Amino acid sequence: MGSDTQTVAGGRTIDKDALLAKYIAERDKRLRPDGNDQYLELKGQLSHYLEDPYTPRVERDPRTDHVTFAFIGGGFAGLVTGARLVEAGVNDVRIIEKGGDFGGTWYWNRYPGAQCDTASMIYMPLLEETGHMPSEKYAHAPEILEQCQRIGRQYGLYDNALFHTEVEDLSWDEAKSRWVIRTNRGDAFTASFIGLGTGPLHVPKLPGIPGIDTFKGHSFHTSRWDYDYTGGDPSGAPLEKLADKRVAIIGTGATSVQAVPHLARACQTLYVVQRTPSSVDVRANAPIDPDWFSQIATPGWQQRWLENFTANQGGSITEEDLVMDGWTDLSRRIRSKINELPPEQRTPRNMLAAFEDSDFEKMDEIRARVDSIVQDGETAQKLKAWYRQLCKRPCFHDAYLQAFNAPGTHLIDTDGQGVERITEKGFVVAGVEYEVDCIIYASGFEVGTEYTRRAGFDLTGRGGLKLSQAWGEGMKSLHGIHVRDFPNAFFVQPTQGANLISNIPHNLTESGRTIAMTVRHALDVGAKEVEVTPEAQAAWVDLLLTGMGRMLGAPDCTPGYYNNEGQDPGPAAALNVGYPQGASAFFKYIDGWRTSGAFEGLTFR
Ligand code: NDP
Repeated sequence: MGSDTQTVAGGRTIDKDALLAKYIAERDKRLRPDGNDQYLELKGQLSHYLEDPYTPRVERDPRTDHVTFAFIGGGFAGLVTGARLVEAGVNDVRIIEKGGDFGGTWYWNRYPGAQCDTASMIYMPLLEETGHMPSEKYAHAPEILEQCQRIGRQYGLYDNALFHTEVEDLSWDEAKSRWVIRTNRGDAFTASFIGLGTGPLHVPKLPGIPGIDTFKGHSFHTSRWDYDYTGGDPSGAPLEKLADKRVAIIGTGATSVQAVPHLARACQTLYVVQRTPSSVDVRANAPIDPDWFSQIATPGWQQRWLENFTANQGGSITEEDLVMDGWTDLSRRIRSKINELPPEQRTPRNMLAAFEDSDFEKMDEIRARVDSIVQDGETAQKLKAWYRQLCKRPCFHDAYLQAFNAPGTHLIDTDGQGVERITEKGFVVAGVEYEVDCIIYASGFEVGTEYTRRAGFDLTGRGGLKLSQAWGEGMKSLHGIHVRDFPNAFFVQPTQGANLISNIPHNLTESGRTIAMTVRHALDVGAKEVEVTPEAQAAWVDLLLTGMGRMLGAPDCTPGYYNNEGQDPGPAAALNVGYPQGASAFFKYIDGWRTSGAFEGLTFR
């Protein structure tokens, strides 16, 4: 066999050069000069798309008091940091959240079928602490939202929380060594310490399709699902009000993949409007057996599971794979390809080639799966993803492809070009107008826009320095948490830390623990200020740059938010990386760092 062919499961032969050429041709079709600017910011006439359909806003008096710790964002980051602070004896924690309750992404995303794509046992935070057993291997959204509320209740985080409140300004008061927080509800209070955990995907965006504001029917974004219009509820009750409706869902990313089966069952006619197909692998969800759970849930169980998953992801050969999902499967395949090489041939180049081969094989399986499920040959062809698996967010579902076999469900493939126009009555693709009663935008969230635009505020640190200036040439931090000139501020997010993308909550729970121990230490030694030294920050950034670089979204990938919509992300993107030795090594390192009590690189004064 020639070096450019590969035989995969089912006896199919892949011509690698032809496949790569197809990938590039499909990518080129989708490249467009406007990149992130193709999307619309939801302001002015479009701001109604942001309204909260779930919780009425309650009037309250502005706060002008002082708290020990204020946290911006009431999702997983704020909840786990708040919980760890309370465990450390810091009780006046105030969480500020733009939604009407805790939950973050799980507060907003209540679309039918929403569920986690990473196994609940490791995805849902603080399961052991709260004594909750997930009901399914991949829990549905209402259960995850309940877990957020459970954490809020158990740690008393509701008492001091400010919901439906957006921070507008955060400034360091040099004289008093504290932060001043101003919000859109007239609050102007102070905090000794602040935490920031606003998450990467929380500002919905709409596609900039000409005529989008002319549609006379009903429309909404998936993160503001209008159950009054559709009927049904987030736990999957039938969307009975759609029985006589013609509905279009625009977008076929992870959200659409989960919502489409529910819409297909309910709508008189459903148009699924596709620009780029998702790769949709097997889900294999299953209930969790309480007997099994009671046997494995011995003290420390969730930490063991977290570490096991991360180790399997990182390519280390552990005794067992507890989670057994699409992520660990991918790592297993890469490992076995590398193991096929004689030890002396395990060079970085050969290892990358092994990685590529396992990807070709995986994507071939995913495309073959489409043929085995979708009855109409032409539709099946259009649903096939022609790119490497980590070019776009991989999806997993056992009812999405099947939905295209329902007589009322139609795939409207735009051949990579997107919707041409929206009219008063519907939408136009390739010159054909489709009349609909409702358009649902499954068009995702802002990622590549300015941090300040997404957060709604800038931070003003020491000497009036803005965070946007400090990070003007890219993010600079120690451990992804501490930033020079922004004393007593802690960032809770994965970049420049473990950067474990396959299980974001693991990054957050570890950061929460680190921050709580740091704050506890500051309080114990009577320090009013905690700050990273310039040397420690510079050394950390230098260390990060010794790594392999970014794993997700190579420039030759089909455009999407993983690769800045196919545009050069600029030199700053080189800093959006994690610890060079990988996530497991980072977690081990950070545990040693914080438990040593030395907090090396920080000054306490
Ligand atoms: P995405 O950004 O992934 O998808 C947006 C979709 O809209 C894409 O299919 C995009 O096409 C399409 N689109 C954009 N513009 C146009 C246009 N002009 N015409 C037609 N189609 C268009 O958003 P999602 O909400 O699906 O997912 C966002 C992220 O949220 C996921 O990637 C994932 O990280 C997370 N998520 C996680 C879930 C989980 O863990 N269970 C579930 C859901 C979401 P194109 O691909 O061509 O750009």
